[in-house]
Amino acid sequence: MDLLEYQGKQLFARHGIPVPSGKPAATVEAAVAAADEIGYPCVVKAQVLIGGRGKAGGVKLAKDRAEATQYATDILGMDIKGFTVHEVWIEGASEIAEEYYASIVFDRAAKAPLVMLSTQGGMDIEEVAEKTPEALARLHVDPLLGFQDFHGRKLAFAAGIPADLIRPVGAMLTKLYATFVAEEAMLIEVNPLIITPAREVVALDAKVTLDGNSLYRHPDNAALRDPSAEDPQEQMAHERGLTYVKLDGDIGILGNGAGLVMSTLDVVGLHGGEAANFLDAGGGSKSDAIVSAVEVILSDPKVRAVLFNIFGGITRCDEVAKGLIEAYGVIQPTVPFVVRLDGTNDVEGRKLLADANLPNVATATTMNEAAEKVVELAKTGVPA
Ligand code: GDP
Ligand code: MN
Repeated sequence: MDLLEYQGKQLFARHGIPVPSGKPAATVEAAVAAADEIGYPCVVKAQVLIGGRGKAGGVKLAKDRAEATQYATDILGMDIKGFTVHEVWIEGASEIAEEYYASIVFDRAAKAPLVMLSTQGGMDIEEVAEKTPEALARLHVDPLLGFQDFHGRKLAFAAGIPADLIRPVGAMLTKLYATFVAEEAMLIEVNPLIITPAREVVALDAKVTLDGNSLYRHPDNAALRDPSAEDPQEQMAHERGLTYVKLDGDIGILGNGAGLVMSTLDVVGLHGGEAANFLDAGGGSKSDAIVSAVEVILSDPKVRAVLFNIFGGITRCDEVAKGLIEAYGVIQPTVPFVVRLDGTNDVEGRKLLADANLPNVATATTMNEAAEKVVELAKTGVPA
């Protein structure tokens, strides 16, 4: 689960990490009242679950009330890469001497958290990583040993941080790592981590992703979820208890079991197609769960064809067929479907589909054949 910047900063503050103080606001009036209270100059920041707000005009420095009013009016309701701004965060302006970068992510290949630090913070760390990889110091942390003081110093030296800041920056990394562990985060990124003219180290931005599977252990964090800030399809799927991830392509995918769905994405890719989503209907799905899943897939306007790939075990293929037939009764899909049923009750399932004679539904017996058909349908609307 991704947190908004200000939620991340509030989390940081609870762990003793210095952040500018501020207030969230959902209306222009509330934003101006917050700015008056905080004082000028202040910064008006769009709160959306996407980076690059600064470049998109979503971060503005207001020197007085008139500017705060103007910026809050401009930013609230603004669209940033497909996300509508419902809230702004007003905070006291910081004086910036240097902009650094710090982050902690899981490096799955190394089976350890990876801590990164650079003196070239600000807007485009991807560019820094690509053009001058040596400017991004990296260090893996043994999860059992934890982040030790020497790790912080080592990183700070490697990143070329001035001598007087090695200890304070190291201490900041120690606190970020403690937050990462205590809150069961998947990612913590601070860009920029600023150095003020008084040589203080402050987190000026916060990007925090928490492990959704651990939220039951953190009720306070679970309550931070903001459905209006999420992608509409992911939100809909979440409410229906479906495992769904939105992707960039135009082929809707439904399978049972994460492994099967991932293989399906690969096979679709192999045939030159691109999946619009990952949807695992799970084991033992009954027909109503299938109807619900079809609704989620089709609510994405990018979807041009849908592939059902079911390997019946506990899931019965006839239940899936019934679900699809019911879904046709409820929503009358206009995009073509390709259905591959194999395993428990596959013969019954295929018979149900044949008898129902649904418009625009093709069947396939192998995954390969199904993928080939759906890729063709997504391109031309005509089966291969
Ligand atoms: P992002 O573009 O979504 O990453 O948003 P950030 O919170 O990182 O802000 C982008 C940039 O705006 C920062 O790198 C700073 O240069 C600038 N900025 C943000 N807050 C302040 C502030 O309080 N004072 C000043 N002078 N600049 C700020
Ligand atoms: Mn930033």
